[in-house]
Amino acid sequence: MTVTEPLLDVRDLTIAFGGKPVVHSISLSIAPGETLGLVGESGSGKSATSFALMRLLPPSATITGSIRLEGHPILTLPEPQMRTLRGSAVSMIFQEPMTALNPVMRIGDQIGESLLAHHPRTPRAELRARVIAAMQEVGLPNPEQRLRDYPYQFSGGQRQRILIASALINRPRLLIADEPTTALDVTVQAQILDLLRKLRRTHNLSILFISHDLAVISQIADRVAVMQHGRIVETAATADLFRDPQHPYTRKLLASAP
Ligand code: ADP
Ligand code: MG
Repeated sequence: MTVTEPLLDVRDLTIAFGGKPVVHSISLSIAPGETLGLVGESGSGKSATSFALMRLLPPSATITGSIRLEGHPILTLPEPQMRTLRGSAVSMIFQEPMTALNPVMRIGDQIGESLLAHHPRTPRAELRARVIAAMQEVGLPNPEQRLRDYPYQFSGGQRQRILIASALINRPRLLIADEPTTALDVTVQAQILDLLRKLRRTHNLSILFISHDLAVISQIADRVAVMQHGRIVETAATADLFRDPQHPYTRKLLASAP
């Protein structure tokens, strides 16, 4: 029998701000290549959870429990090792790419910067080739010309593609996608979901896909964890969750889905 170690294993994670807990003892795991959806209404603690996984919460946060990523204890790892994992083993994309992109830096330089952060001695020609390949992979048009453009010269969907190219250039095993399609209209939303499904297939990427929208999650997640007021009230395979929801809150979410 082969036992697949989870890529990410979160146990009893509790997060408090100023003594007020916003995430209460949650546990979840993600297998290699698996997409876990995390659904819950605004304020339920989804983003606090995702920042904890990257160890990017402000020092004012109190965090207890354990997070293991490929066996590394994230909450106690020395900062230099954490910096190595961040962006190479685990990367993150957000709802509004404009807040994560530098408005006055050419997008080719921004994507290249992610690579240089982990491989500072990459020769210029190789750097350029890797940036162009990353832009092609995420479906950005005319990479050779457009790498000199600035974020404002792209649409919202294209900016999300730029962020995905940056996040994936170091081939992380886990992508945390925090409401990556929420700011996009429905057609563009579908295109970004298509892209994530393709990347997941080609790279055996694990994804933590966070959204307040169960309909969006159902299009990509293998399993879904339902979060309410900082607690995970139910975790199930996506089809099972829709067919036979166990928790009243899940039933409420399903009833309000379009
Ligand atoms: P979600 O992403 O599900 O909408 P969040 O994780 O952003 O929810 O927020 C959960 C709760 O934690 C909210 O009540 C929010 O106000 C609070 N919170 C989030 N970040 C901070 C912070 N840096 N300082 C204080 N409170 C915070
Ligand atoms: Mg959020």
